[in-house]
Amino acid sequence: MQPLIDNARTFGQRPEEFARLAVGQSPEVLFITCADSRVVPALITGARPGQLFELRTAGNIVPPYGSGTPTGEAATIEYAVEVLGVQHIVICGHSHCGAVGAVVRGDDLNAVPAVRDWLAHAAEEPPMCSDPGDPTVAEAVQHHVLTQLLRLRSYPCVDKRLTSGRLRLHGWYYEVHTGSVREHRPDSDTFEAL
Ligand SMILES: [Zn+2]
Repeated sequence: MQPLIDNARTFGQRPEEFARLAVGQSPEVLFITCADSRVVPALITGARPGQLFELRTAGNIVPPYGSGTPTGEAATIEYAVEVLGVQHIVICGHSHCGAVGAVVRGDDLNAVPAVRDWLAHAAEEPPMCSDPGDPTVAEAVQHHVLTQLLRLRSYPCVDKRLTSGRLRLHGWYYEVHTGSVREHRPDSDTFEAL
């Protein structure tokens, strides 16, 4: 923890870079990814402050819309789309994802009931996986990303802007052990290098 505090202490030594941020934000991209510490969106994309609006959830799960309970995820998506007017939404899954792996393996999560109940959103449409022993769970993560993209389309604000051509969705798969990123190509329905 201490190195992180030390860095935070000296971070604000470039006031000229940050002053313009007081005016507001107009990010082009909502970046939805896992809470995993190995996935660092700003490092992967080179984004500077103000460029990425982020939503991070365990397993980059997008909960079903309109389940009756207000969720921070729905609020974040709606704000990004309706208020900030983002033009792109990226859902980025990653290799070795603990959340997707737990669903694929059917792990007993009763000791962590909040995690169990959250992952139940993913278990509704379990990620396809032909090799549960694969530590990268690549196939399952990629399938899972596509499921979350479909779920995102069910959000009225997303659907409206997709229909009017003001929004594009992107499915990414990030390898934590290589740093490489693949993108889903709808024409071939495969994940290929960016
Ligand atoms: Zn993960």
